[in-house]
Amino acid sequence: MPPSPEASPKMPVLFVGHGSPMNAIEDNVYSRKWRALGQELPKPRAILCISAHWLTRGTGVTAMLHPKTIHDFGGFPKALFDARYPAPGSPSIAQEVQSIVTGAQVSLDQEWGLDHGTWSVLLPMFPKADIPVLQLSIDYPKPGQFHYDLGRELAVLRQRGILIVASGNMVHNLRLAAFDHIDDPGFGFDWAKEMDQKFTSLIASGDHAQLIAWEKLGPAAKLAIPTPDHYYPLLYALGAQQPGDTVQLFNEGTVGGAFTMTSLRLG
Ligand code: ZN
Repeated sequence: MPPSPEASPKMPVLFVGHGSPMNAIEDNVYSRKWRALGQELPKPRAILCISAHWLTRGTGVTAMLHPKTIHDFGGFPKALFDARYPAPGSPSIAQEVQSIVTGAQVSLDQEWGLDHGTWSVLLPMFPKADIPVLQLSIDYPKPGQFHYDLGRELAVLRQRGILIVASGNMVHNLRLAAFDHIDDPGFGFDWAKEMDQKFTSLIASGDHAQLIAWEKLGPAAKLAIPTPDHYYPLLYALGAQQPGDTVQLFNEGTVGGAFTMTSLRLG
């Protein structure tokens, strides 16, 4: 039995830059930070993930008892395909999520599971896989404001012991990635560094309006966000920010020229 909502402390919100799926099983600077976070956070009653890798029409929440581990990638070593994250789901918490959201109709999903945006981060963070995990899908055709507003509605879950983990990458351009520099820490194109700084300064000043309207941030933003799949999770996390939350960045910086791992803990 998970602890009751009343017994749970208020949870922070995370936006995690997940980067390569290999971070799930590699011991590196990113996965080490995820491991440390898992040890310092209060134990959640459940975890709700918004992953860049579940894009849908309409919004769904996983509602099965045993979500499967989805290996939604190719070209990686067998060890990564062998990795599993056998955390339970929670049909009752899925209904709870469905009931608190009024700005969208949330459907109860029995098909998805945990994609690598979720499990590659949670495997190092909560290796026991003993906390129920649910995923909320991203209604992809909807604009930034929709995702931010949905994040605002989810904020109440924090008081009910639910850890919201939004998993994407603020800067994510696969086509322009310099894979020959992937092991060259800090190597980043000018536009990637410029946007990483821009995003973090807007987050620090609480200027969410500019982050929601990211299309208006100029040519560098179009290179940083050629498609918004990895950016939208950030808007869920910012939407769930509440007055008085501390804002902490971690895993800052660029990787492979065209990605940033820069991550955020709110509260
Ligand atoms: Zn990804």
